[in-house]
Amino acid sequence: MIQVRTDLGRTRRLIVKIGSSLLTDSAVGIRMSVVERIAAEVATLRAKGIEVCIVSSGAVALGRVQMGWLNRKLSVHEKQACAAMGQPALMNAYKQAFSEHGLNVAQLLLTKDDLRHRRRYLNASNTSETLFAAGIIPIVNENDTVVVEEIKFGDNDMLGALVSLVVDADIMLMMTDVEGLFDEDPADNPAAKRLSVVETVTHDVMNMAGDAGSSFGTGGMVSKLKAARIAIRGGVATGIVNGHRDNVLVDFLNGLDVGTLFLCGEDRQSKRQHWIMDVLQPAGKIHVDAGAAKAIVEGGGSLLPIGMLQVEGMFDKGECVELEGPEGVFSRGLCNYNVDEMRKLVGVSSEKIEAVLGYVDFTSVIHRDNLVLLELEHKAH
Ligand code: GLU
Repeated sequence: MIQVRTDLGRTRRLIVKIGSSLLTDSAVGIRMSVVERIAAEVATLRAKGIEVCIVSSGAVALGRVQMGWLNRKLSVHEKQACAAMGQPALMNAYKQAFSEHGLNVAQLLLTKDDLRHRRRYLNASNTSETLFAAGIIPIVNENDTVVVEEIKFGDNDMLGALVSLVVDADIMLMMTDVEGLFDEDPADNPAAKRLSVVETVTHDVMNMAGDAGSSFGTGGMVSKLKAARIAIRGGVATGIVNGHRDNVLVDFLNGLDVGTLFLCGEDRQSKRQHWIMDVLQPAGKIHVDAGAAKAIVEGGGSLLPIGMLQVEGMFDKGECVELEGPEGVFSRGLCNYNVDEMRKLVGVSSEKIEAVLGYVDFTSVIHRDNLVLLELEHKAH
């Protein structure tokens, strides 16, 4: 795991996330020179044995140019049409640039909904493994034509973070048009300092990115930090680098002081915990008493039926729910019983489960292995 800059030399698998503003131009469409530069760098890394997967935006922006739909706000369906139009153009640019280096590319289009289904998650992971083993560069984008608002990744930074966990990358590098994360907005204050290494994405660090709307005029520093937080929790170090800088990927992995590096903590989440916390959508909420909240948060215990106060939502056995205690929502977990059974079990002691339901599968309603605690920061943002 990457815990200091010098560990970067041990990188075996890298995700490079490339934003639309770097790749496209509303006058010319794709910036071929940028694609060529990135392809050359990736080829250098491949030659050193580093496996690289690209998460690339740009489909909508390219489609806009092709459709001639510039300088106006697009409806969701128009954006989807642009993505459908722009995606092959985007892939074509990568295919051309990588073929100069004797490398092949492959397209993977994903939605968050795909990753919520365990089998599809594993299929995405197996397909990527097969491509890596064959020396091919997977290029991932969101499957924009089929997504509606609630199942969207929201942005490709988040897609990059989730993909980096799906493929077990060592590091994800987000290429943008600034040098990294600054302690203040460099546009307002020329003396603003770049942060070289960030150990924890605290509230203070989040605040450096400004409001969701401001973001230093880049593709959105807030969304980059949110993505970084998810990746590093799962054990994938993250970097923010300037995609206009020559040789930036190679320099970063050589440990040079460029961009901002977010280190992984010691307390890496398991894949299962990450899946519950970052991928699944809670289908209900269970209100629990102070004793149950304490047993879970401080004692690492399971949720027992006696600690439940109220059950909201519609869910089946095995689905994800949120837990709310006196201080607010603090955890998520997978239920051992369905919603009707859970309602019947509110306040019931574990020995009485059989008497109430007519059968007993588990003495807890959520087992501790299937519970994930939300961090304070996770709650706040
Ligand atoms: N998937 C979108 C595209 O390729 C971009 C989404 C984003 O940049 O966050 O155009």
